[in-house]
Amino acid sequence: MQRVTDQLDIPVPDDFHLHLRDGELLRAVVAESARWFGRAIVMPNLASPVVTVAQAFAYRERIVRALPANNSFVPLMTLYLTDQMTVAEVKRAGASDVVFGIKLYPAHATTNSAHGVTDVAALDPVLDAMADMGLPLLIHGEKLGPDIDVFDREKVFIKDVLIPLVRRHPQLRVVLEHITTEEGVQFVLDGPETVGGTLTAHHLLLDRNDMFRGGLRPHHYCLPVLKRMEHKRALRRAIRSGHPRLFLGTDSAPHPISAKEASHCCAGLYTAPLALALYAQVFDEEGALKQFGAFASHRGQAFYGLPVNLGRIRLSRQSRPVEVPERVLVAPGVEILPFYPEDGLHWRAERI
Ligand SMILES: [Zn+2]
Repeated sequence: MQRVTDQLDIPVPDDFHLHLRDGELLRAVVAESARWFGRAIVMPNLASPVVTVAQAFAYRERIVRALPANNSFVPLMTLYLTDQMTVAEVKRAGASDVVFGIKLYPAHATTNSAHGVTDVAALDPVLDAMADMGLPLLIHGEKLGPDIDVFDREKVFIKDVLIPLVRRHPQLRVVLEHITTEEGVQFVLDGPETVGGTLTAHHLLLDRNDMFRGGLRPHHYCLPVLKRMEHKRALRRAIRSGHPRLFLGTDSAPHPISAKEASHCCAGLYTAPLALALYAQVFDEEGALKQFGAFASHRGQAFYGLPVNLGRIRLSRQSRPVEVPERVLVAPGVEILPFYPEDGLHWRAERI
């Protein structure tokens, strides 16, 4: 009889795509990421975006101040690429020891992206400078336009923007973040060694049917939006493949419940508290648990040139579903709902 793996020890992982927000929201959520991850690539899309190295330093300070006592979590900062980004700022970022990437949001693609790039090709000198400094370009891979269906944004972006960009900048490392489609997976699988990609737990667990199950479900709304079932299957095949440049990025993106349960609901799922257990459950379902340590704790680190973390995490399968996490209190009357899968969660993570 084949022995079923029910426990797995891995080095403390890093989260290669995380939204920590700012102010009271930051103070309410940072501890959960710091509990499970050694480092995180922190997204720069604050209400006032992080566009300079000085702002990245200041934001980093606010994050560190919000950490629990004696916590060694390291925020890896990013800058927000705008049409106004200069080569001089890229050089400052590359020479700093706090900025680890520059983030490309197409204008208006997601939360706080009004400052995003309108024409990537116009930024070629900036991208050349990033390649010279070894700074990766982190990409929200969606093309928007009046004739582009919301479910096709990623596919169209890859064809119209990303493939030409990688051809123009063969030395530039790029990360296609939160891949949601078969085309996105294929882009990384077929790509050169400069191309990596991150996968979220929720895009591995959910597809667009989950947004409509029994009524419109704002807590399942995220961007890039959930896709067809067949795309979720392609993502799951990708984790089985053990590809060396596909790695963990939760895209955990908290919003107050009042902003989710609204006529214009904000995009994002808050997955940080259970992230490792959520991923473990998917890897287990796919018979790919042996790949999970590399996915979470080695591949992204190799891509970013970071050492493997020293601490360890134990993941164990539970015979009963683990308890649903409590809502997070941000301020009186302001709460966040952590994601919990409706079919239950049978994995638990602990620091060992
Ligand atoms: Zn994101």
